[in-house]
Amino acid sequence: MNRDEIFNGLARRPNPDVLVIGGGINGISVFRELALQGVDVLLVERSDYCSGASAALSRMVHGGLRYLENGEFKLVKESLEERDRLLANAPHYVSPLMTTVPVFDVFSGVANGAVRFLGLSRRPSRRGAVVVKLGLSIYDFLTRRRAAMPGHSFRGRRRTFGLWPALNPDLIGSATYYDAQVSHPERLGIELLKDGLQAGVHARALNYAEVRRGAQGLVLHDGVTGRSTAIAPRIVVNATGGWIDLTNRGILPDDAVPAPLMGGTKGSHLMIDNPDLLEALGGHMLYYENEDGRICILFPYLGKVLVGSTDIRVDDPGTVRCEADERDYILQSLAFVLPDIKIAPEQIVYQFAGVRPLPASEDSFTGRIPRDHFCTVVETVGSPPVLCMIGGKWTTFRSFGELASTMVLERLGRHARVETAERAIGGGRSYPAVARPWKKALAARTGLSLSRVDGLFSLYGTDAAEVAAFIAEGADSGLADSAHSVRECIHLIREEAVEHLDDLLLRRTTLGVSGQLSLDTVDAVLDILADERGWSDVEKVAERRRFLTLLAECHGVGEAMLKSRNTDRSVPCATTAR
Ligand SMILES: Cc1cc2nc3c(=O)[nH]c(=O)nc-3n(C[C@H](O)[C@H](O)[C@H](O)COP(=O)(O)OP(=O)(O)OC[C@H]3O[C@@H](n4cnc5c(N)ncnc54)[C@H](O)[C@@H]3O)c2cc1C
Repeated sequence: MNRDEIFNGLARRPNPDVLVIGGGINGISVFRELALQGVDVLLVERSDYCSGASAALSRMVHGGLRYLENGEFKLVKESLEERDRLLANAPHYVSPLMTTVPVFDVFSGVANGAVRFLGLSRRPSRRGAVVVKLGLSIYDFLTRRRAAMPGHSFRGRRRTFGLWPALNPDLIGSATYYDAQVSHPERLGIELLKDGLQAGVHARALNYAEVRRGAQGLVLHDGVTGRSTAIAPRIVVNATGGWIDLTNRGILPDDAVPAPLMGGTKGSHLMIDNPDLLEALGGHMLYYENEDGRICILFPYLGKVLVGSTDIRVDDPGTVRCEADERDYILQSLAFVLPDIKIAPEQIVYQFAGVRPLPASEDSFTGRIPRDHFCTVVETVGSPPVLCMIGGKWTTFRSFGELASTMVLERLGRHARVETAERAIGGGRSYPAVARPWKKALAARTGLSLSRVDGLFSLYGTDAAEVAAFIAEGADSGLADSAHSVRECIHLIREEAVEHLDDLLLRRTTLGVSGQLSLDTVDAVLDILADERGWSDVEKVAERRRFLTLLAECHGVGEAMLKSRNTDRSVPCATTAR
């Protein structure tokens, strides 16, 4: 359904059962849950899908070893269950991550941990071998029945430096355990959304649209076409993460706005292109504490190294970016754990920041704010009830969406008829245990070369079949100097609600975050998008300026850096080049 069809439908029947506001991973998750139960549901996202916190995560799908220190055992157990489900349901994007904790002494943190447990202190402290061992043993205990990945192991100093010679010479050993990572979180969000939309015409979604309270009730405004229409849902789900309180103010009568529910903290990351750093990691994530006791992470990601993050209270989630002092902090933490590795400024190829949607808290140490999630309903006479989704990690999007959906169904007097716990997502459906025969069959069916199918499979999982079939329907060519092709790009624009350059270059693909985006690719995609959307030259110039400004201001990638990445390489994408 396109934007006009959605608006025309709402003009005829303006009362969907449920309006979900916010298209981050949690809003998409509850939308999918409700859509699969046959509920008439409309999702409205003000910007692009998964462009808020859901694009700013550390890319870990994890139980949260650190949250054990806060006594959040239930959250860790639930997160580990969801982690293992994602390994099975989205194998194309979620994979095991060997994680190594450098250990600096034996007993640090034991006394402080006990004091914290008794509620006598909130201060973070160093974690010695005993504390790390305890945490990892609990991790193993919580996953012992499923045993999806091996348990933890400890190494002494000699074996640690044998494997990671570049580590800080002060450490006494290391521990390794398994967690997971997500390679394309924004794409997984889009696949979940499509899963919901495919449930039927009762499920509709709009990005770049917003709902506000008008004189007569709620009004939906389309940021793309400028259209507006009144809507009267039976229930509203406020899934706007760090914006929850602002959204409540925008949709509820003044006297019904609850006390602040959210108290977000900002976190920033750097993507670094430094071969020595990549090699020093030996394929592992380093999960280490900086000198101030804060946990930082560092791992190989899309051929570069992802390093993060910071944890700073913010009031306005709309204006965050990685500031210079945060970059310095992250680089200092890196120099602490790997002292001999030098990072040149131009090796920082991308940076990103987002706001963790944490429950309102007075805690002076941001790391101690609870990471769990819950829902609360705001009841108002004369307006639909508003169910607010508070907190929620990326890892637990499914269980959080299920929780919210169950509460909504109860209010609608309906029952769940579809379970999502074991439901494969997007390109994780019918995922072959051995991929080669699957790829060869697809290459034979479509006439695409095996290497091209290989590339599509690594990007889209089994959804590569749909992309390849579209590509094969016409003459194709490489998309400037990227590994994508023109028809692939057209397919993404038509099927995945691409309205702006950043939707495609930063979220439907990983060109931005992987530091592979060049100015030639930007211009090639601009031409295609302008063609598809019928933009005038003036509109094209404005879109180009908008995107380049966003890239420079929010991601530290200026035009000169983009230009320096232009190459003469043209990627052969001929449909029959077998
Ligand atoms: C630095 C950092 C690192 C993290 N690392 C991890 C990690 O490694 N693993 C993990 O599991 N979790 C991690 N998280 C947490 C995780 O990313 C978030 O908890 C999760 O993405 C929150 O999703 P959300 O949908 O609730 O919020 P968001 O993704 O922020 O979505 C809210 C959406 O609402 C939209 N919106 C706002 N106002 C309106 C409005 N009025 N109308 C319509 N739409 C509106 C916004 O545009 C936004 O898209 C991290 C978070 C951060 C910030």
